[in-house]
Amino acid sequence: MPGRFQQTISRSTSVKGFGLFTNADVCVTFQPAGENHGIVFQRVDLPGQPKIKACITNIAAEERRTKLVDGSASVEMVEHVLAALAGLQIDNCLVQVDAPELPGCDGSALPYAAALLDGEPVAQRAKRETLVLKDDHVIEDDNAIISASPYFSGLRISYDLNYGTDSVIPAQLADFSIDPVTFVSGIASARTFVLEQEIAYLRSRGYGEKVSTSDLLVYGENGPVDNELRAHNECARHKLLDCLGDLSLCGCDVQGHIRAFRSGHRHNHLLARLVYDLARNKTTAVERAA
Ligand SMILES: [Zn+2]
Repeated sequence: MPGRFQQTISRSTSVKGFGLFTNADVCVTFQPAGENHGIVFQRVDLPGQPKIKACITNIAAEERRTKLVDGSASVEMVEHVLAALAGLQIDNCLVQVDAPELPGCDGSALPYAAALLDGEPVAQRAKRETLVLKDDHVIEDDNAIISASPYFSGLRISYDLNYGTDSVIPAQLADFSIDPVTFVSGIASARTFVLEQEIAYLRSRGYGEKVSTSDLLVYGENGPVDNELRAHNECARHKLLDCLGDLSLCGCDVQGHIRAFRSGHRHNHLLARLVYDLARNKTTAVERAA
């Protein structure tokens, strides 16, 4: 929404859990931050407590998750935290973590959203920058498409999930205009999903040892194992959630319609980079508040 005020939280708030990949126990503490601070992670477990800005220029290649790197410090599985911050329109926050991987929690962004709401989001005096998309952009790669088009108001994301008729995950669509209300009611609770054979492969490589079928959606031949869907299109909603979190790495709000088909983190990062470059190079396309 062009011209809205930046937000932070009124007081610090924490989430504890363990990393889905590394199994390490981790505590995340969200701290209030000043205007134009942005979202910055801080590894408080490392000497010097290095900070890593949540910016697309700090992205590192990693399978199935989003990893940020600055110098020798890194932090990964940041996408669900980023989605919660973006969905609630919290622009300025110091995210302190004491391990290299954010907790998986229940595979969704709901625990993060609940903690941030408990921290009481508060408006600041500076305006948030919005990039208003003026043209169509298409990123097509590896059987996936993600496009960004002009839209009359705010940010809308449509995710079309279709892995083919042989997949145990049925074709489904998620389509939301993004604001704090729709985020909390329809997006935040959508959980990560994985195929049963993928879990076996990850475990064979030492990942995900602590993860049970109740920690995320594990799809077997007959649907989710030991679990029930929170929505008929929960998988598509989760892919939309990931897209929202990754897109926030562009560092500004976006007014436009994102349409995604079969895309994943790598495509989301390309989209965030495109928007980041548009915001920096085509300043006429950016509405700067007076
Ligand atoms: Zn995810």
